[in-house]
Amino acid sequence: MENNHPLNDLQQLMAITAEEASELTQVCMKILRKYKSKDEIESKWQDKLIEELGDVYCMFDLLLEFGIIEEEKIYNRAQVKRAKLALWSTLVQDTPELKQLRESEEK
Ligand SMILES: [Mg+2]
Repeated sequence: MENNHPLNDLQQLMAITAEEASELTQVCMKILRKYKSKDEIESKWQDKLIEELGDVYCMFDLLLEFGIIEEEKIYNRAQVKRAKLALWSTLVQDTPELKQLRESEEK
């Protein structure tokens, strides 16, 4: 990266991650409005979803590379989110382990 870039590394990482998260949000909302099942999704929108998820994944990788985040902490947080989804969605089957994790987070 050129030294005369107007934003430093952290500023670029935060700005681009926020932009890419926003682009992913837009694609998710379009698919939500247009389709009711996975099989209905036209390839154009599948491709857009891959593109924007890939962009966010790239930023995730860069945040790791630049030491902004730690992989283990992200993994742990993902487990907490999974435990919450077991309670608040139909996406995750609840287990005694997830229940225990939820309870440990409440303390
Ligand atoms: Mg993008």
